[in-house]
Amino acid sequence: MYAEIIVDIASEQVDRVFTYRVPDGMKVQPGMRVVVPFGPREKEGFVIRLKEQPDYDENKIKDIRETMESYPALLPHLMDLAWEIKEKSHCPLCEALRLMIPAEMRGGRVKVKTETFVRLLIPAERIDEAIQAQGRSKKKKLLISILSDGREHSLEELRGMISNVREPLNDLVSREMAEVFEKEALRSPYYGRMDAPPDPELTDEQQEALSELIPALSRPQKPFLLHGVTGSGKTEVYIRLVREALKQGKGAIILVPEIVLTPQMINWFRSRFGNSMAVLHSRLSAGERFDEWRRIRMGDARIVIGARSAVFAPVENLGAVIVDEEHEQTYLSDRFPQYDARDVAASRGKREKAVVLLSSATPSVYSYAMARRGDYTLIEMPHRVLNRPLPTVHVVDMREELRLGNHSMFSALLQQKLDDCISRGQQAMLFINRRGYASSVNCRKCGETIKCERCDVSMTYHSVDHTLRCHYCGAVHPMPKVCPACQSPYIRPMGTGTQKVEEELNKRFPGAGVIRMDVDTTTGKNAHFELVDRFRAGQAQILLGTQMIAKGLDFPQVTLVGAVMADLTLNFPDYRSAERTFQLLVQVAGRAGRGEKSGEVVIQTYQPDHYAIAGAATQDYRAFFAREFGRRKADLYPPFTMMARFLCEAREMETALQTAEDIRKRILAEFGHTPLARRIFFIRADEAPITRIQDRARAHVLMKLLNHPDTDRLLARFQEMAGEEYPAKVQLEINPASLA
Ligand code: ADP
Ligand code: ZN
Ligand code: ZN
Repeated sequence: MYAEIIVDIASEQVDRVFTYRVPDGMKVQPGMRVVVPFGPREKEGFVIRLKEQPDYDENKIKDIRETMESYPALLPHLMDLAWEIKEKSHCPLCEALRLMIPAEMRGGRVKVKTETFVRLLIPAERIDEAIQAQGRSKKKKLLISILSDGREHSLEELRGMISNVREPLNDLVSREMAEVFEKEALRSPYYGRMDAPPDPELTDEQQEALSELIPALSRPQKPFLLHGVTGSGKTEVYIRLVREALKQGKGAIILVPEIVLTPQMINWFRSRFGNSMAVLHSRLSAGERFDEWRRIRMGDARIVIGARSAVFAPVENLGAVIVDEEHEQTYLSDRFPQYDARDVAASRGKREKAVVLLSSATPSVYSYAMARRGDYTLIEMPHRVLNRPLPTVHVVDMREELRLGNHSMFSALLQQKLDDCISRGQQAMLFINRRGYASSVNCRKCGETIKCERCDVSMTYHSVDHTLRCHYCGAVHPMPKVCPACQSPYIRPMGTGTQKVEEELNKRFPGAGVIRMDVDTTTGKNAHFELVDRFRAGQAQILLGTQMIAKGLDFPQVTLVGAVMADLTLNFPDYRSAERTFQLLVQVAGRAGRGEKSGEVVIQTYQPDHYAIAGAATQDYRAFFAREFGRRKADLYPPFTMMARFLCEAREMETALQTAEDIRKRILAEFGHTPLARRIFFIRADEAPITRIQDRARAHVLMKLLNHPDTDRLLARFQEMAGEEYPAKVQLEINPASLA
């Protein structure tokens, strides 16, 4: 017997199968991990296929050394999936295979932990007799009677009950009355048990959604997109669907954004599904992650809840894959090989005949477009549960505030609402969607944001040389002294830090208590949870934060939400900035009024008429989508085109830029005269919007490519180019989550 093996070395040169001999007596199956001699060393590898005949000189074929596990680490479907990812993201197969197993499994960095167990070997009818036969040894009598329940008891447990248990135990073992053996122990990341709350009675909308989803468990269908407003009870729909899948003997995967995977959320699911659920996220220890993965692989856990990479969980007989908050950027992996967890979910669903459910209050433009085209089935839940109203949203025009002489960062309305909220003893959340990036420039009198004439994205202020730059086309202008639209001098870069807002709040509301959550206050391992818990416990009345407070949090005492500077993400130079702003504002607004008391939202903006702001104010997803979709089409942005870039990083900007420029020139030289050039209708080498990260200068070659079957050939060639040596570090990104 021979095996075709992919050696676990990520390099284009060894990206092919190698043939090895399976030694007599060794049990090898496709999907198993093995150790093989490779050159002078031993390497890990994946068995792709077994075959009877070698395809070259038998004398040169070496033996597999050993198998790493007794079972295939890779399920057949997941091996197929790896091939698909290799094709799509143009990476070596072994890189795609690595996605399918916990990183710590490679190189044997985690060990299976074992525990010692004891079992009685005496038949039940002879137990009494055996106890009698122990004469005066109380310990042996006790030991036999403990073990007589027929269960396996850990040595640890027996030690707790009988001192020096080893002695009587060894005696029983030597007389073949008991047996001592090692068994895998699983490290559990769980805190404790919660009692299952009774199932709520489903709302009509939940019932309708399920009447479409459940039949799909037994009849393969295209993916579903569930568009349900915040608080419409989407989670309960997931739970019922998963429960039905379990009933049919199938498993399920539920993907959630990392930040939403709080202990609370996990306990909530665990209270419904108990030990048949496993959790995969980045805060688990290596050992815990490995053990959870094995519980899934062995079929002990049939339900997986996890962040992006859990989409590769080895669930057999998959019934459903659910992607919660499907619009989140975190589903796009930022590491090589790139993948979109939503696409992977769809691909698994198709291959494994599972229900695919994408879900959000603010679906991505891409997914909603797919639904409109009929590629996904749209399900809508337009109302909150228990007839709870959506919060009332007020939009405040900050230009008007300035006209009235209010130079502070809080409008009169927000101040008044905060006063009311605090004096009633309720809680408020203030949200600043600041991104720590170079900022846009904005007129505080007329609200004008300076945009590039050619690109329809905001220009970015560079404090070093007081210029405005367009990061799409490279246009550079000096910073104007007055607003180009209204000639007022109140023109300045936007962006106030959370810290400054915190100081201001402490001054205005001395007794209220402010908790600030941003990158600076949440660096510790559990800082995020501690701050959330403090706020939940009512230790402060105001929670102030960035994006990280926008999602998933459920504080019933919050009745007021303020978006202090709604425009900041709107002006970020990315074609998705309107989409992101709309999503953020709707999600933030959705934090208000989740409990008994209804909620209010104040959005402060310089652009009240912008369709992203207006759409968020009325929480009208469809109206927003129609506008955004039209704009994408007119300006040829995704989903009508594809964005790709070579990101070049180096110590000096000059090096980064030079590399980018070289790549651009090579692309033009190579394709400029071929029909493929028509697939590239925009290419430019430039500084990246964030010019430095961790002291590395960043430049990029940005391209807009036509969606066309040919384009794949172009991308494959780009991937090769990215793999070559350059003075700067080069990485190819296709439709990246961020163009920063
Ligand atoms: P979404 O994810 O759609 O924003 P959630 O799933 O968080 O909404 O549900 C909002 C709240 O409504 C939760 O507290 C949940 O327990 C509750 N809920 C969900 N379904 C029902 C129901 N059928 N009856 C009563 N309460 C429900
Ligand atoms: Zn102006
Ligand atoms: Zn431009």
